[in-house]
Amino acid sequence: MADADRIPGFNTLAVHAGAKPDPTTGARATPIYQTTSFVFDDVEHAASLFGLQAFGNIYTRIGNPTNAVLEERVAALEGGTAALAVASGHAAQVIVMQTLLMPGDEFIASKKLYGGSINQFNHAFKSFGWNVVWADPDDISTFEAAVSPKTKAIFIESIANPGGVITDIEAIGAVARKAGVPLIVDNTLATPYLCKPIEYGADIVIHSLTKFLGGHGNSIGGIIVDAGSFNWSRDKKYPMLCEPRPEYSGIVLHETFGNFAFAIACRVLGLRDLGPALSPFNAFLISTGIETLPLRMQRHCDNALAVATWLSQRPEVAWVSYPGLTSDKYHALAQKYVPKGAGAVMTVGLKGGFEAGVKLVSNVKLFSHVANIGDTKSLIIHPASTTHKQLSDAQKTQAGAGPDVVRLSIGIEDKEDIIADLELGLTAK
Ligand SMILES: *Cc1c(COP(=O)(O)O)cnc(C)c1O
Repeated sequence: MADADRIPGFNTLAVHAGAKPDPTTGARATPIYQTTSFVFDDVEHAASLFGLQAFGNIYTRIGNPTNAVLEERVAALEGGTAALAVASGHAAQVIVMQTLLMPGDEFIASKKLYGGSINQFNHAFKSFGWNVVWADPDDISTFEAAVSPKTKAIFIESIANPGGVITDIEAIGAVARKAGVPLIVDNTLATPYLCKPIEYGADIVIHSLTKFLGGHGNSIGGIIVDAGSFNWSRDKKYPMLCEPRPEYSGIVLHETFGNFAFAIACRVLGLRDLGPALSPFNAFLISTGIETLPLRMQRHCDNALAVATWLSQRPEVAWVSYPGLTSDKYHALAQKYVPKGAGAVMTVGLKGGFEAGVKLVSNVKLFSHVANIGDTKSLIIHPASTTHKQLSDAQKTQAGAGPDVVRLSIGIEDKEDIIADLELGLTAK
């Protein structure tokens, strides 16, 4: 029987969510609304937009119709109530924390994170008075032990960059609920195609859109997804959400906007005042990229598993960290959280140490030596000499980026060509 109320599947949402033919021109692709500002109907209309009594476009720093398509699309794919696109993954992290924390507050973070996030939390965030307390995702009790009356949030990555760590989202979500704080999950490496953290207790999901969601290595962007699950008013711990806002004639955002209040607060306080807006041109490129996310991610995963299996049998290789391998420490967690595949990113330990890492990155030809992941193209980097260079040796090893470690982001080329290129690099004299 035909069902007009059918909920579309993931592939359909990736292509259509948030978008429709342009009502004015009929354009089928989403137009790039390359404008800074939007004309008000009249004075009353302007006043209602500024007072948050009506939704509408004012100025592209606060919102833009091209960006809105991207926001609705990612919110739909993650199963959230609303989303806010911003200029980068790091900008998303700043806005989330600025909405949750006051100077002197703390947040707990997994110590297995993207190197840039470790730096941001240890340095920039400390200068804002937001104090990170590190915990070990392999030992959930360290998260429990880190909770204090000042804790305002817990931050983890679903698949951690670059270590190939799968984080037990559900177990850490239970710690967050007990502590009465939201769980923030950086889902960049998994994407909602592989894992939807909200189903496991995440209250806020963030992404670097720069990676697999955009998918083509052509634009920097970030996004914040509100799960709509957290009660911001319960313990009166989040003044941005549960206290009258003088900026908006005393309205209380959680009272007014309910289960999408966090996304609204990030937009009308965070993005409005801090300013890292996403260019509509980048939003267009990233939304277009998302249309093929399911196809690309499956190919990324299938290729990565073939490469990891091949590498694990090579004499030059000491170990391969890829949760898709049945022998991997995180394989059981991978089967639970990312059953369709363990993503495209893996780390490889070379028997020849630092020199062997340098030799490999210098002799591959198909792979590009870049500080990025999540491109259609295969990418390689030696974190110890690049992305993780700022960290101490102990921090490097802790983050899974010791001197012998090479990180691969496997692209969507033919897997035979990817493997042949790695063989060239490994056997070069
Ligand atoms: C790249 C990345 C970020 C930072 O995103 P930018 O878009 O580069 O600012 C954050 N988290 C993870 C897991 C990443 O891979």
